[in-house]
Amino acid sequence: MSFEQGGLSVHDLLKRFGGFTALDHISLEVSPGEALGLVGPNGSGKSTLINVASGVYQHDGGKLFLNGKEMSRIPIHERVHLGINRTFQVPKPFGGLSVLDNVRVAAGYGGRGQRLPMEVLEQLSLADLAQREASTLNTSQQKLLDLARALATAPQVLLIDEIGAGLNPNELESVAITIRELAQSGIALLVVEHLMGFLKRVTDRVVVMGAGQKIFEGSLEAAAADLVPTLDANIGGSHGWHS
Ligand code: ADP
Ligand code: MG
Repeated sequence: MSFEQGGLSVHDLLKRFGGFTALDHISLEVSPGEALGLVGPNGSGKSTLINVASGVYQHDGGKLFLNGKEMSRIPIHERVHLGINRTFQVPKPFGGLSVLDNVRVAAGYGGRGQRLPMEVLEQLSLADLAQREASTLNTSQQKLLDLARALATAPQVLLIDEIGAGLNPNELESVAITIRELAQSGIALLVVEHLMGFLKRVTDRVVVMGAGQKIFEGSLEAAAADLVPTLDANIGGSHGWHS
């Protein structure tokens, strides 16, 4: 286990909610310049992993490393300063602020690492919406704004939680290209996604979770071949594995 490497390293992570074990000794690593897909049925612990890694929740066991530095006891805003940020499965922009101001506020959390808000909006084709009040955005625009807010802090590790849901095919294609470009620029990305067609455009390496445990790590192709029947049975086939 190479804790010294860059990127995100999660070792033997344990998270309980009361008597329920949401993360059951999970280990994984994401290196700079790569996107790792994280898949699994609803309730398997994917968002919890992102919440624990980003510092929304404290974990109950195991260790978290960012660029080789142990960050278990580092509070959320300092983790952002250190270079990790995330998007939310359900974005929560400041509804009364403009799109641009939402990104400006986020950039302010970035500490030394900050990008120019307008530049980030241009990267995500949101520049035309810069002056719009965030509460007037549709679902896909809110998801892109959430990604813009995370990117404004110039993260070295970026955790993306189901950005594909609610996006149309053109938007999916352009977000997939953006994610690949972010990886090529040296960011380590953990991409939680149900839409397999989208994930295939982003990465070939996936971790599959089931009931809080890592049940597979390897190529997306092998995961789909070996595990789809199990996952279908668990979640009724409504999860977009085949899309
Ligand atoms: P996924 O993102 O894979 O769908 P989650 O990580 O959201 O799954 O949830 C994993 C499990 O942990 C679920 O059973 C969920 O109900 C539970 N859980 C998540 N967050 C909390 C919380 N704040 N309090 C109690 N239980 C939670
Ligand atoms: Mg989730």
